[in-house]
Amino acid sequence: MGMSNQVMFVMPAKVNPDKCTGCGTCVDECPNESISLNKESIAVVNEDECTECGLCVDTCAQSAITLED
Ligand code: SF4
Ligand code: SF4
Repeated sequence: MGMSNQVMFVMPAKVNPDKCTGCGTCVDECPNESISLNKESIAVVNEDECTECGLCVDTCAQSAITLED
């Protein structure tokens, strides 16, 4: 634990499309470029690239992203 790369989370980030306003902040913040906006301007996570770092969860002002199922 501590300052290692270990994370407590086991699920990739997930966006609640009802809360997402399409602001794009999470797209800019994701260090793995694993979030993009779809054609409806809703953030979508590429689950294969998400490392579950949690940055997008913290950065979303709408609380639209979670790391839970
Ligand atoms: S930061 Fe939140 S509201 Fe903005 S695009 Fe990402 S999920 Fe949507
Ligand atoms: S948890 Fe981290 S790697 Fe996964 S989508 Fe969010 S910012 Fe990107």
